[in-house]
Amino acid sequence: MNKLLFQKIIAQTSDSPIALEISDTEGCYINTTDGKNYLDFISGIAVSSLGHNHPKIIQALHDQIDKHLHVMVYGEFIQKPQIEFAELLIQQLPDSLEQIYLVNSGTEAVEGALKLAKKSTGRTKLVAFKNSYHGDTHGSLSVTGRDVYRDPYLPLLPNVHFGEFNEDSALQLIDTNTAAVILEPIQGEGGIIPAHKKWLESLKVKCDENGALLIFDEIQSGFGRTGKLFAFEHYEVTPDILCIAKAMGGGMPIGGFVSSTKVFQSFKYDPPLNHVTTFGGHPVSCAAAHANLKELLDGGYLQRAQKIEEIIKSTLKGEGIKEVRGVGAMLGLELETRDLTENVVNHCFEKGILLGWTLHSNTLVRLAPPLIITDDQLKIVTSTIMEGISIYY
Ligand code: PMP
Repeated sequence: MNKLLFQKIIAQTSDSPIALEISDTEGCYINTTDGKNYLDFISGIAVSSLGHNHPKIIQALHDQIDKHLHVMVYGEFIQKPQIEFAELLIQQLPDSLEQIYLVNSGTEAVEGALKLAKKSTGRTKLVAFKNSYHGDTHGSLSVTGRDVYRDPYLPLLPNVHFGEFNEDSALQLIDTNTAAVILEPIQGEGGIIPAHKKWLESLKVKCDENGALLIFDEIQSGFGRTGKLFAFEHYEVTPDILCIAKAMGGGMPIGGFVSSTKVFQSFKYDPPLNHVTTFGGHPVSCAAAHANLKELLDGGYLQRAQKIEEIIKSTLKGEGIKEVRGVGAMLGLELETRDLTENVVNHCFEKGILLGWTLHSNTLVRLAPPLIITDDQLKIVTSTIMEGISIYY
């Protein structure tokens, strides 16, 4: 009913938006105004890990809305939802990750992390990786490794050097002028590509030897999606700065970057207040983030993500499939051709299952289900995908 109006007054980023008209959501399902229900197998792109409208998150939102909304720009007033969330999060992290700066989104977390690294090291050189994705504002686009998205906006930040992901040659880019090395421990938009363990360890050693800070962008891989609270726990490497967002707010907008007290010192002087945000750490988002994190930890969802990986990897097999890769519920199904991928995604859509692509790959089906998904629902999805492959292969 509103498609024309939608396309007329909401600025569009493509000529072919999915344009489902949402009526409401519940659990794994998105319901549309024409009475259809879609099983959301991408969790709003790795956001709704506890599904949509989780009752504990909704309750926390109501409770906070009744108390107060925005009161003051970041960092001036003591706000209980911020403290409660930050305390629970920091308890889960290694000792060196001891403070969080709260923002509104993923790209903003990356912007803040890059500024923090530059300020605390007094250096400007940044090392990033080909095929990475870190967001769409100018700083995060500057460290995103895909020319097709960068070229229209050049010049971007100077002194950014791109290495090959998982290649030792990249280590040579890190020297005593390097402020930070930024990467996703599992590249998301690049096509769900996990870093090799040994490579990541060498990267950390090289950073330490040269006084460069290692930034992990766990905006997509964080909050249980990979079967650990953060993907870096699969590796024996702790980043100096950790960027988080997406699933952090259980459906509410929020992000953050976490580091040591020592590194964060540099934000306090020359000048004071050199990094501020009006809405970062909004109390309503923080209340949701706290309820979300508590439930993720208490409800056994990290183990569930591991089980989801097992089920999906053991059922999606056969002709037309090149590989199912990734960790936990951050998976990618690589099919043989672009046409097959498109047809399978469309087939599933017609059957009421939302799958997606990743930004930099056109033969990869993104599989990022809510962690509350049941075995029966998983079965429906995997058999519909296999059906699609058998029709179109
Ligand atoms: N980093 C990564 C790894 C992401 O996947 C994304 C979002 N896809 C971002 C950064 C940017 O987050 P946001 O869209 O919240 O700005």
